[in-house]
Amino acid sequence: MTELLVQRVSVALEHLKLKTAQANLLAHLHEADQRELPSIAFLDRLLNDELASRAERGIIARTRLAHLPIIKTLDSFDFDAQPALDRRSIAELQTLNFLERRQNVALLGPPGVGKTHIAIGLAVCALQGGQRAYFLSTQDLLDQIRVAQLDGIPGHKQRHLNTVPLLIIDELGYVQFDKSAATWFFQLMSNRYERRSTVITSNKNFSEWGDILGDTVLAGALLDRFIHHCHVLSLKGESYRMKTRQGATSTTGKTTRRAGPS
Ligand code: ADP
Ligand code: MG
Repeated sequence: MTELLVQRVSVALEHLKLKTAQANLLAHLHEADQRELPSIAFLDRLLNDELASRAERGIIARTRLAHLPIIKTLDSFDFDAQPALDRRSIAELQTLNFLERRQNVALLGPPGVGKTHIAIGLAVCALQGGQRAYFLSTQDLLDQIRVAQLDGIPGHKQRHLNTVPLLIIDELGYVQFDKSAATWFFQLMSNRYERRSTVITSNKNFSEWGDILGDTVLAGALLDRFIHHCHVLSLKGESYRMKTRQGATSTTGKTTRRAGPS
């Protein structure tokens, strides 16, 4: 009789697509039996098991879609190497209040100081918090703009850029925009203004964005929107890559500098 009931519950869990609960049903029943748990405690454990595995699967799926170049966490960020950076401002961003308030983040500074690391860390935080995020380098953005212009009408990817709750645009400053790409970028940022959060990392100060976009008036209008609700974090100092590399090669004293964007 009991076996029949277990079988029926297992089939019901399968129909309800409660895969983890179904897989762990016997273990939970055994535990409840051993510890003489009341039925509500058994049910509580079974359902929490299902919820936890769903949350985990959700994080994995969102992370796959976020297009992160590498996984970095804010926990692994060495704040001692970046004394100019206020830890409290990062802690505040980790609460994800900025996402709820549709605020932006600007990470500015020279190469190798951890701008991309922090941007990815924020994305990971958002993904774990149940939010969707999308990471793209400025070159990826320009490629997508080119595709959008060829297609004529906004496709799925372009709509995604407009609507994803957290968009990260990395390394603004190394690649020059032409007129139509700059206009497209301005439109994207206008669409996202006060509706979605954007993180931009750049090796250039705001005053130099006119040069990147090839149009100071357009850059001014874009910055006006972007900075209106924005956490501006300025990172300083030597490249962390160089520092760690110097440490690794201190016996020879030799270091090599890689050309191109960081
Ligand atoms: P940027 O984007 O400013 O050029 P990155 O974030 O790409 O710099 O950092 C370069 C490398 O150094 C990455 O591997 C990053 O994880 C590491 N890094 C930079 N700053 C720190 C830091 N303060 N703590 C830990 N790792 C760091
Ligand atoms: Mg970078």
